[in-house]
Amino acid sequence: MISNGKKIGIAVICLILVSTIFFFAIGESTPVQLKKPKLELTAASLEAKGDAGMVVTAHPLASKVGADILKQGGNAIDAAIATHFALNVTEPMMSGIGGGGFMVIYHAKTKKVTIINSRERAPLSAHPNLFLDENGKEIPFEIRSTNGKAVGVPGTVHGLYKAHQLFGTRSMSQLIQPAVDLAEKGIPVNRILARAIDNNRDKLSRSAAKELFLPHGKPLKEGDRLVQKDLAKTFRIIQEKGIDGFYDGVVAKALVDVVNQKGGKMTLEDLKRYQVTLDQPLEIDYRGYQIVTTPPPSSAGVIVAQILKLLDAVQVQNQSVRTADLYHLFVEVSHLAYADRAAFLGDPEFGPIPLKGLLHPDYIQERAKLVQSERANPAVPPGNPWKYEGRKPVKQGKMQKEYPPGQTTHYTIADQWGNIVSYTTTIEQEFGTGIMVPGYGFFLNNELTDFDAIPGGPNEVEPGKRPRSSMGPTIIFYKGKPIMTVGSPGGTTIISSIFQVIYYRLVMGMELKAAVEEPRIYSIQYPFIRWEKGVPSEAREELKRRGHQFEAVPREIGNANTMWINLDTNEFHGVGDSSRESTAIGLRFVDQ
Ligand code: GLU
Repeated sequence: MISNGKKIGIAVICLILVSTIFFFAIGESTPVQLKKPKLELTAASLEAKGDAGMVVTAHPLASKVGADILKQGGNAIDAAIATHFALNVTEPMMSGIGGGGFMVIYHAKTKKVTIINSRERAPLSAHPNLFLDENGKEIPFEIRSTNGKAVGVPGTVHGLYKAHQLFGTRSMSQLIQPAVDLAEKGIPVNRILARAIDNNRDKLSRSAAKELFLPHGKPLKEGDRLVQKDLAKTFRIIQEKGIDGFYDGVVAKALVDVVNQKGGKMTLEDLKRYQVTLDQPLEIDYRGYQIVTTPPPSSAGVIVAQILKLLDAVQVQNQSVRTADLYHLFVEVSHLAYADRAAFLGDPEFGPIPLKGLLHPDYIQERAKLVQSERANPAVPPGNPWKYEGRKPVKQGKMQKEYPPGQTTHYTIADQWGNIVSYTTTIEQEFGTGIMVPGYGFFLNNELTDFDAIPGGPNEVEPGKRPRSSMGPTIIFYKGKPIMTVGSPGGTTIISSIFQVIYYRLVMGMELKAAVEEPRIYSIQYPFIRWEKGVPSEAREELKRRGHQFEAVPREIGNANTMWINLDTNEFHGVGDSSRESTAIGLRFVDQ
């Protein structure tokens, strides 16, 4: 017989045991909360705050999908996966399962950053002359970017599954379901999608996309409803079969067939061989902050870092926004850095990249000497960063002809435990190649046009290689804690958008919203400057006097959806960029 006293003793021990097991089992939570916290969403808006999570994407419906996953107790990685599928539906021209990207994840529990690189790869049939005609001349961009040869083996589905395998807490099927629902019910066409359809009528009319986006030959307009049954079907196949649902079986076969019908040479073997990589983050010390970002084959991290360090080296005297002095230095140091980008950056699996040399303090000083404060430098050759690594230069690339910046999407998510995602993902140009996989409703990228059309450098086409990217999803830390995320679409302009948002926020101390909305400029090489509305005419006149030229009309540059974390209150502040229908939704703990 056990006495009552003993019974109580055993019960207490059992209770302690159970709570201890529970305490460790829900290890995701820091601090551990025995009671499930109740969360509520803030209003969806261009800007939002929240102490229990944040989602900022370029589309309100996609932000809602991510926020709902967080509200149901999913983590930031779960939400990022669900959001990506939803973005494929709501912004079919910007990203999707036919493309690739870079996902930067901060895992709060381990305090580690993981980069999942799902950049597309060239098929095994590819070769350095892929984009040259029979006379050895570069095939015009409009032609090569819409041909099956431009399609890289997509990486997105692999990337999302890798993220799920490493950090996911909900089933993939659950995370894909909201996108299935959106695709089936339909979404209202917003001004961004309507404009993209109108701008790409020719491209869309040549593929299975025609009926969907140009019904009876007329482009869908703002306010029309877009229902994507085929895309929903493909998502269901992935729900059912997992990663093989995309890389093997009917979807893979249809994908390969259409690439080959459109002039490319891809095989099922190319799809089966595809692998993501987990990349070592590039970590840059900058004015007391640590910028953690994507390494090559992304060019953004190192080139943004070079620009910021060059700006410090030239010692910007006039720290006032919208002045000719500041713009002049932005442009001059950009020219130096973009020249190095063209010469030295490519896929590190295929050759060495002088990362240390490019950021070596003596190299930065040497390059900064080429900047004159009163005059545009018309000839900016690349430097020799190899010297600072004690090596002889290897293959060197040439600045290629500029082509229209692609369109992509960048988003950022944080959860109640402090996990953070900064993710840029793309199909390259709007609607990629314009080739939709018939019967499966998704677009194929034209990512291989990010390779140099003229071979010879580290970014020439090679089988299995990944084209150099400008995407640079970034997380910035202060005293070891994440404080800001940043990234943008826009091809080579991405680099300019990122460095300007960082400079305006961290150096000039502007509020994050103001830093994001501040009119941006972009110039890859002498003499033309692209500019956003708001760059004052006095500044432009003064810059012309210094030898610069401006594009005739202003254009929007990028879509920098960002987040700031208040380290005193642990509150997330999400900021959407008004260049699209960007939407921030915060999550708040509710007192129970
Ligand atoms: N293809 C571009 C890159 O990787 C991304 C698309 C864009 O936004 O231009 O740099």
